[in-house]
Amino acid sequence: MKYFGAHVSASGGVYNAIDNAVAIGANAFALFTKNQRQWIAKPLEPAEIEKFKAGCAKHGFKPNQILPHDSYLINLGAPVEENLQKSREAFIDEMSRCAQLGLDRLNFHPGSHLKMISVDECLKRIAESINIALDKTSGVTAVIENTAGQGSNLGSKFEEIAAIIDMVEDKSRVGVCIDTCHSFAAGYDFSTDNGISAAFSNFDNIIGFKYLCGMHLNGAMKALASHVDRHTPLKDGYLGPKVFEYIARDPRFDEIPLILETPDEAQWPQEIEWLKSFIC
Ligand SMILES: [Zn+2]
Ligand SMILES: [Zn+2]
Repeated sequence: MKYFGAHVSASGGVYNAIDNAVAIGANAFALFTKNQRQWIAKPLEPAEIEKFKAGCAKHGFKPNQILPHDSYLINLGAPVEENLQKSREAFIDEMSRCAQLGLDRLNFHPGSHLKMISVDECLKRIAESINIALDKTSGVTAVIENTAGQGSNLGSKFEEIAAIIDMVEDKSRVGVCIDTCHSFAAGYDFSTDNGISAAFSNFDNIIGFKYLCGMHLNGAMKALASHVDRHTPLKDGYLGPKVFEYIARDPRFDEIPLILETPDEAQWPQEIEWLKSFIC
């Protein structure tokens, strides 16, 4: 089964994300479980949690159709100790919120070295942060998103993600989310047939499809290997329709959330319809 959705608003309460997903014809969704631009959030109220769980049950959303995203402030590879501690605490809180909501995965960007520590040292810190978070929580998988490699953000190369996974102790609770725009910006050519098969076979060899816990489906505003993270609607930008058709048809992308983070929300219903139309 293919699960297509979008990163919808949870403003006013996490349960609102469910209605926002249903309204656009989605059978998957992504959300922030707290304000993504603030460090501290008030704990989820028991009533809020119950309402969310009841909504998911009513509309048939299982945990593998939902991909929460963590706060943009968190840097699990932060070079400065104070920021690293703050990030680790905030990440554990986000993992716990997911567990409270009955969710089983949390999507995050690996981290940045900010040109203050080496790539290897930063990757080590990220893995250590994941190990700490997995130790302090249960039931939620830490899902590493590949990046465009903008600035000093790590995780644009599959090898870097593989290196992090390699240092994670509990490999049953670490996963990966591949963003089509980030991949293209990082130099994986998702605009041609050959590029697509090469990139995914690369992914399978270096990381492995067994780790794939979700996908972000986005068009790319900038050219191949630009390292610029700018999304467009699916049919715009440099990514042709090919990669989206490939994902829709290939069973290796079944049973995971396939999430739009495209900038024009008004187009989401049509984009989801369009993706569904590729399924045989
Ligand atoms: Zn992201
Ligand atoms: Zn993304």
